[in-house]
Amino acid sequence: MSSHTEYDHFVDGEFVASTSTERIDVVYPYDGEVWASVPDGTASDVDRAVATAREAFETWRETSPSERRETLYAVADALDDHAEELGTLETRQNGKLLREMEGQAQGLGEWFRYYGSLAETDRGDTVPVENKDGQLFNYVTHEPYGVVGAITPWNSPLMLTTWKLAPALAAGNTFVHKPSEQTPVSALRFAEILRDETPLPDGVYNVVTGAGETGAVLTNHDGINKLAFTGSTATGRKVGEAAGRALNPVSLELGGKSPTVIFPSADLDNAINGVVKGIFAATGQTCLAGSRVLVHEDVRDEFVERFTERAQSVELGDPMDRDTQMGPVAFRDQWEKVRHYIDLGAEEGAEIAFGGDQPDDLPGDCFIQPTVLVDVENHMQVAREEIFGPVASIITVEDEADAIETANDTDFGLAAGVWTEDMRQAHRVAGAIDAGTVWVNEYRTISLRSPFGGFKDSGLGRENGAEALNEYRQSKSVWIDLSGEVDDPFTMG
Ligand code: NAD
Repeated sequence: MSSHTEYDHFVDGEFVASTSTERIDVVYPYDGEVWASVPDGTASDVDRAVATAREAFETWRETSPSERRETLYAVADALDDHAEELGTLETRQNGKLLREMEGQAQGLGEWFRYYGSLAETDRGDTVPVENKDGQLFNYVTHEPYGVVGAITPWNSPLMLTTWKLAPALAAGNTFVHKPSEQTPVSALRFAEILRDETPLPDGVYNVVTGAGETGAVLTNHDGINKLAFTGSTATGRKVGEAAGRALNPVSLELGGKSPTVIFPSADLDNAINGVVKGIFAATGQTCLAGSRVLVHEDVRDEFVERFTERAQSVELGDPMDRDTQMGPVAFRDQWEKVRHYIDLGAEEGAEIAFGGDQPDDLPGDCFIQPTVLVDVENHMQVAREEIFGPVASIITVEDEADAIETANDTDFGLAAGVWTEDMRQAHRVAGAIDAGTVWVNEYRTISLRSPFGGFKDSGLGRENGAEALNEYRQSKSVWIDLSGEVDDPFTMG
């Protein structure tokens, strides 16, 4: 398709070589082609990027609201113009369907428009205070933290970058980004587009590529003022520990083991579609995957029969082909992990109703059939740990109380689905499930205007919506005394 390209880091508006010669290959998981490589960043590479972002912060924080809005709108327009190119790059990195990655790329601009408009329209506050007969005046302003260190995963690289970058820039911060070692190229191209086609000043958005160790250096760097991370819960804990040591604010978007509950009144055609959307779309590689399917015993047999038939009909193939429904897993180690869990499920007593194999007629070594595990019990590892692949664990529940108890019997709390035509039940169950997002009679739909994030081990803080701006700024309370007299110095007042 194209020749092998060697990329460098992107710092201060230009590609810069690493201080090391170690490189990481970028592979197209569909056929195993190695089509690019990036530097495995060193501590001095990170130092350079952080110093650049620190310097750029001094001017970016001073930009006027309308200047910031105009810049973010220009970023949005540039991303719109390059959506097709960026979507294709994303697919070449992680093998997710072109129609999904292009769709994500087409939406990125809207995040920059939304936070750009907030940069201009959001206000501080004046606070009524009673001291000194009203001669004391108090107002609250918002200030950026400084340099944001951001670390992102491979499954939706640019979208998850945008969820951090757009509010961070709107609030006046600058940014050092360490993308996933599996998907670093789209971030580099993104940086280049911002430099060439927008007024965003050099040094505001910087990219240092590398593996987990480069991420750890960034996370522990003393020039960072705020950490923003999306990835696994295990890595998230390390990022949280580093933030705790430095007393830096941190937002963590982590893993899930989300329940989808199907009640007897559910429209089964819709519910089956929704469960397919939750667990087989994106080859199950989404944090919000509906990987635990809790089916009421009255509809369990019919659901299992029809859902298994549906799994058998999913079209696997070339992710660039717009008719394909499921592409490969993103890389071979991830494939091994998915396969390991399927075997483990069988050892633990679940039945593989369908799937688990690599089809013979597809290239590479990363395809796996959509997999249906039945007779899963909630204590089994396949019901407790995140697989991050197309594996549905079907668990039978007796009634609504059992469904809620089982849904909440997990360390995670990212998302949940509820399928019922009984609207009282819908509200009851949505209220009772411990998760940051609950869908009723739908799954995997999001909006840039609505907060997204996890309860329990699924994360800290929220992305999207107006509240995400507060993840990137701090309040300052200013007191102005107009009375001309200082109170008794030995009394607080
Ligand atoms: P991961 O935790 O292995 O890696 C994520 C990022 O962290 C990568 O860039 C990696 O290089 C870096 N990293 C690894 N070790 C590090 C360390 N010690 N210090 C700092 N950085 C380090 O996760 P992954 O496999 O890339 O992504 C899949 C995970 O992401 C899943 O658990 C999934 O649920 C989660 N995810 C969550 C959301 C969400 O919004 N909640 C969205 C997408 C993915």
